[in-house]
Amino acid sequence: MVVRIWGCRGSLATPGPETLRYGGNTSCVEVECDDGTRVILDAGTGIRVLGRGLAGNRSGPIHLCLTHLHLDHIEGIGFFAPIFDPQTEMHIWGPASTVRSLDERLARYLSAPLFPVELRDLPATFVFHDVEDEPWEIGGARFEAAPISHPGATLGYRIEADGASIAYLPDHEPAVGVELDNLTSDWVSGFGLAQGVDLLIHDAQYTDAEYLEHVGWGHSSVSQALSFGAMTGVGRLLLFHHDPLHSDDELDAHQARAHELWRGSGAPPELAFEGMERRI
Ligand SMILES: [Zn+2]
Ligand SMILES: [Zn+2]
Repeated sequence: MVVRIWGCRGSLATPGPETLRYGGNTSCVEVECDDGTRVILDAGTGIRVLGRGLAGNRSGPIHLCLTHLHLDHIEGIGFFAPIFDPQTEMHIWGPASTVRSLDERLARYLSAPLFPVELRDLPATFVFHDVEDEPWEIGGARFEAAPISHPGATLGYRIEADGASIAYLPDHEPAVGVELDNLTSDWVSGFGLAQGVDLLIHDAQYTDAEYLEHVGWGHSSVSQALSFGAMTGVGRLLLFHHDPLHSDDELDAHQARAHELWRGSGAPPELAFEGMERRI
């Protein structure tokens, strides 16, 4: 399968001359399987450009899997061109809630006064799915999801297709307030989802020093992401959800430090950038 990065910025879209190389759009990843099955992971601002390419140039339903409903993961959805096409059948998968259904929660954004069009008035046909504990299939891909450590109901995803596997944990603090290296696997959030995957896309929002100021905020430092990638034995690690305060030059420094610190068995880690494409 092929993985394409349409947005890898965390928290807030960050356009400008200092973020040209890694990109300023928030979380959006496209996974395309060899049989043509296409799944979009999160609907940050990066989904806008993806949608422009898909409009009038696709067949079959669109599947969007949301990790959680923080604004940086859903704010692009109102600007995703296929939702204005009555031919579109769009399946949206996301975390369950005992309080409000997934469409009710999304409609809090896609409604007045935050958005000019109500979710129920959009031309596309929507089908909403609460993600269950059991694995499920979309086209030729097998999906698995589980709650992971981040404020509010948040899922990590594992996708297996074409003899390969990826895990997507863009907002994740695998252990809060304790050294990850001192924990056994059962105490590490997200371990089972990431274990042995060919590609892990993982939160690496902070430097080690910044992390100390943000313990419990639900994000990882670069070194935590590396420890998590090494202990889960992943083939490749893609560092994701870059902090809005970090310029391209600072992210280059994170990349260099990640290479220095990497102790895993797979390829050295890479920082995600907008426009990146990898065949797994
Ligand atoms: Zn986020
Ligand atoms: Zn979040």
